[in-house]
Amino acid sequence: MSDCVFCMIAEKKIKAEILAETEKVMVIKDINPQSPTHLLIIPKKHYRTLMDCEDNELLSELLQTARKMARELGLGDRGFRIVINTNEEGGQTVFHLHMHFMAGRPLLGRMG
Ligand code: 5GP
Ligand code: ZN
Repeated sequence: MSDCVFCMIAEKKIKAEILAETEKVMVIKDINPQSPTHLLIIPKKHYRTLMDCEDNELLSELLQTARKMARELGLGDRGFRIVINTNEEGGQTVFHLHMHFMAGRPLLGRMG
């Protein structure tokens, strides 16, 4: 989608710090981090929200990517939080499916 910021990042039309990338998924640093480690795990294909994605293999790849990043960053034992904000009341602001990966400080309560 031409007016979608994550599509533009996937197409390399705008810059982001890309930490990992596969054929279908990319991992970038959040531009406005809420924790010392705050990554976004994003399918390259545009799905507006989690509710619009029926591709269970892709959803599984998002979780596998979270585990891979946790291992690589040495955060698996320490801990991390993954969040998929969905639609307005879920706090979603960018309407291209993405998973937050947050770590590096104690995350207490709802969003820490
Ligand atoms: P949401 O609120 O939709 O769950 O999360 C959107 C996230 O995307 C926010 O944490 C916000 O900081 C991040 N974000 C928005 N625009 C950009 C951008 O252009 N680049 C990067 N790296 N992150 C962005
Ligand atoms: Zn998009």
